[in-house]
Amino acid sequence: MSDAALVGLPRQIILDEVVPARAPWDHRVHAGETLRILDLEGNQAVDFLLYAADDDAERYSAQDTIAAQRNIFLRTGSVLLSNEGRPMAQISATTVAHHDTIGGACSCESNTLRYGHHTKSQHACVENFLISNALYARGKRDIVSNINFFMNVPVEADGTLGIVDGISAPGLYVDLQMLMEVVAVISNCPQINNPCNGFNPTPVRVVIATEPFEGR
Ligand SMILES: [Zn+2]
Repeated sequence: MSDAALVGLPRQIILDEVVPARAPWDHRVHAGETLRILDLEGNQAVDFLLYAADDDAERYSAQDTIAAQRNIFLRTGSVLLSNEGRPMAQISATTVAHHDTIGGACSCESNTLRYGHHTKSQHACVENFLISNALYARGKRDIVSNINFFMNVPVEADGTLGIVDGISAPGLYVDLQMLMEVVAVISNCPQINNPCNGFNPTPVRVVIATEPFEGR
């Protein structure tokens, strides 16, 4: 395996593809498999949701995850919990200091509120989530508070949130080892009105890997 971007992953690569700038992506990932998301060009927010494959009424819960680990940032070792309190995935490795749990997803509506009416027609993460979720018969009410991988949302001492220049860089990644069968949904964030994508949305790479079956 000569590709430096795959170092540290299980040996059998099941999927390896690039998610274009501004695009949605979804895939079913089995328990034990590792999903690596690579920030190819740096400072690219990746909005992320997880649904249990068997019953998507069970899905990633920011509240349960934050309360259980008593911390708002996701780091190596963080366990992503569902709204049923069950572990869905663990961050088995990441080369970024931490990832955001509270900044939410951009939408046409929030863009209009924050940045002016001229942004109403700009593509946004909620639209990406709707596109992917529609493949699984899910609608807007199924979009819950999401993770923002590679996004820097510092919280000041008085509780104030910021969305500031990223802490990510080209080639940095996050690995998620799945602890149940899930559908992972990504919005490669199209936002151009704040620094979460360096004002320039770029592609990311997704790799799913597993240990090869050792037959007798
Ligand atoms: Zn976004």
